[in-house]
Parts: sequence; C-alpha cells; structure tokens
Amino acid sequence: MARFKDVFRLAVEVVPRRSGEGGSAVPAGVPAAVLAWYRTHRRPLPWRASKEPYRIWVAEVLLQQTRVDQAAPYFERFLARFPDLSTLARARTAQVLKVWQGAGYYARARRLHAAARVIVRQHRGELPRSVETLATLPGVGPYTARAIAAIAFGARVMPIDANALRVAARWTRETRDVGRSAVRASLEAALERSIPPGDAGEYAQAVMELGETICRPRSPRCGVCPVARSCRAATELARPELLPHRSPPSARPHVRGAVVALTLGDRWLVQRRPDDGLLGGLWEFPGGKIEPGESAEASARRELQEETGATAGPLRALGVVRHAYSHFTVELHVFQGAPRRRPRTSARRRWATLREVAGLPLPRATERIVEMLTAAPQEVGDEDAGRPRRDAGRPFSSPERARSPAGPRGSPRPGPGPRTGGRASLGPRAPRPRREAPRDPSGAGRSPAARAGSEARR
Ligand code: SF4
Repeated sequence: MARFKDVFRLAVEVVPRRSGEGGSAVPAGVPAAVLAWYRTHRRPLPWRASKEPYRIWVAEVLLQQTRVDQAAPYFERFLARFPDLSTLARARTAQVLKVWQGAGYYARARRLHAAARVIVRQHRGELPRSVETLATLPGVGPYTARAIAAIAFGARVMPIDANALRVAARWTRETRDVGRSAVRASLEAALERSIPPGDAGEYAQAVMELGETICRPRSPRCGVCPVARSCRAATELARPELLPHRSPPSARPHVRGAVVALTLGDRWLVQRRPDDGLLGGLWEFPGGKIEPGESAEASARRELQEETGATAGPLRALGVVRHAYSHFTVELHVFQGAPRRRPRTSARRRWATLREVAGLPLPRATERIVEMLTAAPQEVGDEDAGRPRRDAGRPFSSPERARSPAGPRGSPRPGPGPRTGGRASLGPRAPRPRREAPRDPSGAGRSPAARAGSEARR
C-alpha cells in the first residue's frame, strides 16, 4: 500500500498541468494597472523618501526580518545615528548593535556594519550596482541584492518575497506547491518578464505593496483590487485565498531554560555571547536549558556553575519569560541570588549595575529580565526561595517581530548555545535558526522567520 501511495504521489508530481489549470504568465493588463495603483496609493514610508542607495540598502536589511510598520522607527533612528555609509563604517560594532537594539536579529546589524567596511575598502565607498557584486557583501543574499539593484539602480530584476510570491501565484493561478524551488523559479521568471518599461524598482515595490495591503494571505480584498478583472485566481476560482499552495510546516519544538541573575551589592553578573551564532555579541545573564527530569532551580544552579564557576546561596524565583524564535519557542525561568563562590570574570564576563546592563546590547528577553529586576531589586530571602513571585509569562510574542517567527526580537540563550566560559555544551542543544539575517525568499534556504517577515514588508 505504501508503495502504491508513493508511486501515486510521484505520478501526480510529474504529470504536466492540464490546459487552463494554471500558468506562468502574468495576465496582460496587470502590470500597468498595478503600477498605476501604486503611484496613487503607496504609503509614505521613510525609506521611500529618496532612492539614495545607502538608505535603500539599510531599509532592505532591516526589512529582512522586521515588519514594515515596526521597521520605520528603527530605520529613522539608525539613519539619524549613521547618516551615511562612511559614518557607519567608522563606528564600533558595539555602537551599531546598541542603535539596532530592539529591532532583533542582530546578525543583520553586524553584517551591515561589516559590509560598510568592505564597501569603503573595496568599492571606494559606493554600493555596487550589479546583483552579482551586491550579493558578495556580508548580509546581502540574492533577494536583497535584487531589491537594491531594482529600487536604487532601476535594474530589470524582480526581488521575490512572500508577498510577491503570493500575488504572482494568484495572478497566474499557480496551483503547485510554491515551496518547491522549480515553482518559485517559474513565478519569479513570470514576474520578471512582466516588468513594464521604466522603473523596475517601482514595479517591484508595487507588487509587494499590493500583496501586503490588498492581496492579503487569508483575506484578499478582490473587491477593491486594481487587477481583479485580470487576476486568474479572482476570475476563475471560488476561493482565491486558497492560493498559494504550500505544504504544511512542521510544529516548532518547545525549550525550557533557566537563568540566574547573580547579584553582588548593586552589581549583576552578565556575560557576552560569542560573536558568531544566534544573538552573537549580545550580553545576557548566565543560564541554559533545563534537562529532562531536572527542576528549573537545579538547572539554574548547574548552568551557573558550569558557565562561570560560581555557586549561589538561596535562589529566589522571579518569574518566567516566554519567547518565540523562528524555529522553536522557549520559556525562561528567572532566578535571583547572591554568590557563595565567586565567578570567574573576564572581558566577556563582568559585574555591572542594572543601569550599565541596560546600556549594553541585549537580546529582547534579557531586556525583560532587566525590567523584572528593576521592579524587584535584590530581595534574596530564604523564605521566598523557590517560590514564584511573579509570572511574567505572556503569550508568546510573534517571532522576531516579523513580524516574524520571529516577532522575535531576541532573547537570552534558551538552551545551551555557545558558551562564554566553562563547558562547551551540555545535553542536546536547543534548535537554532538556520541563519539569522539574509532573507532570501527566492532561495531554498530561506528561513520561516524571513518568510513570515516578508509577509508584511514595505
Ligand atoms: S484580485 Fe484578489 S486574488 Fe487577485 S491579486 Fe487582487 S486581491 Fe489578489
């Protein structure tokens, strides 16, 4: 029976579509109509104020994993502090991360900074114009390279994010799984062939704007859509919202972690994560994954000792911080205590006042722990040890804010990620996003975070 099913599935995949069942050509009349609509209805977003390549580049990197409505203030703050490429290239990494704080997915900021230095060093301070050269820069994948080339330089290329993919699938009534690279390539080619003479960048933005504001994922507004008369999904299907077709995603695993806010007088022990990997270079409190059969407090004590060499006296349970990453969800049990045996300190691990901690580049969940400590300072009492004082647990935020599975804005290492000291790792590691920054909606390696993020970009 299993063999029969496999053979049947294979047959369905290789049998060509019947005539009229879908196609890869954008219907005539659609490009001009969507462009005219965009020129009248586009939103006045800050990165649209000019086509200055540096601004377009910063915006594209920010929008890789942050929703449009959330990106604007971060974009303006970043441009106010780093108004041009040479200023960004001269800055220290910690300064860039601090300005980026809150936007999440900090690898984007590090790569943006690294790319600025490459551009100054190798391209005389000017952003390259070709897709191929742009794609060699840190943090610039095929999608971002196409977006910069089209929007800043008018190149006739089409960046395909989730909005553009959805719109193209509906315009052409594409019924195959858009998760398949061949199908995506077919839609990408169809859109590229449909670019009207003139500004390819405006067309790209028009398609994505239509996807975000009119041709929405679950409730397309066909009644007010400027291309409703030509769109094949609208004219041929009873439920255009059923396109695009995707295979169902697998469920995200859940990770439980424990964190110790160790205090000595008015100072707290913090440590810096390794520069590479998830939330690289950000500061956090010691902690890690709760092993099976282990209590949260026992885990907190174990992680503290393994990472820092310290032991703690009575621990007070402050609450639980919940967070969602693109590939897993996490709950962090937060404890506060004083050291019995002092930790090892170094350039990457030190004592700091809460004010100093708040001034460091922090993952979002660590920001919330700092807020917790600010509200409940230093009350380590035996009678309270182990009793939850407050549950800060809220429903999981959307992953990296994208907007995204990543409403995630970052969080302390929920599981044993790379150590800043002590053992390299204990037990199974928490699942980690395949990569943080490059949104490459047209590539097979694109993360769910990026996919979700681009649902609402521009
Ligand atoms: S007519 Fe409907 S399905 Fe087609 S592009 Fe417009 S909103 Fe989307």
